[in-house]
Amino acid sequence: MRLLIFTDVDGTLIDHFTYRWDEAAAVLSLLKVLNVPVILNTSKTYSETLKLVREMGLNSPFAVENGAAIFFPEGFSPLPEGCERVGEGYCAVVLGKRYGEVREFFRKYAERYNLRGMGDMDTRTLRELTGLPEDALELMKRRMFSEPFVAEDIDKLGEFIRLAERNGYRVLRGGRFYHLVSDAQGKGRVVEVVKGLFGEDVLTVGLGDSENDEDMLRAVDIPILIPNPKKGYAPVSIPNLIRAKCLAPRGWADEVMKVLRTLKLV
Ligand SMILES: [Mg+2]
Repeated sequence: MRLLIFTDVDGTLIDHFTYRWDEAAAVLSLLKVLNVPVILNTSKTYSETLKLVREMGLNSPFAVENGAAIFFPEGFSPLPEGCERVGEGYCAVVLGKRYGEVREFFRKYAERYNLRGMGDMDTRTLRELTGLPEDALELMKRRMFSEPFVAEDIDKLGEFIRLAERNGYRVLRGGRFYHLVSDAQGKGRVVEVVKGLFGEDVLTVGLGDSENDEDMLRAVDIPILIPNPKKGYAPVSIPNLIRAKCLAPRGWADEVMKVLRTLKLV
């Protein structure tokens, strides 16, 4: 049996406010020794995620911008068919639309629905919204597939969501931003694609903290919800959902260890 761990990043594997993950470091090392892939499945960009993957010493596939693309290390086995080389030691499977197309759609309607996109925000606004330093914001702005935004008029947001859905898009709600994404992509699709490479004998774990993690949590065998420090548990209702007791990253580490013990892998 092959164990695969799919995980959101912000507020799940790293602290919602400080972005630290020290408390999960030992478990990440253990998973590496056990040869269990830890597949980051995040709304972050490729540049942000790659930095984190390197810092964490991961050698697993990772998915970016809410399941828009999955990047596989070139030496990873099994590799999906048609995985396109993109440099930096990775090849990619793209599920979403390209950023230029998404941005064009967003800009057409942003004013009418009182929406402010990341592409229109200056560094100062972004710093206030995220608490991130400037170099991290640079990586965040290197978008390839999706537009994060804030809605200044919640009443109009519903209308925009319906318009987006009629045009091949979806609006997802993350920890800090809404995200305009292609309806062909998704964190759940990432689970399907990666799982499909391994055949029958696979057990999947998923960890997330927000509504945009719900389709990933639905697609896995063991779904784990990490509480948000401000909002508590996201309104996710899945029958076998495990609600972690602690916040990220402690809650992540504790729950993964419980799974490893149950499976007698430690
Ligand atoms: Mg999150």
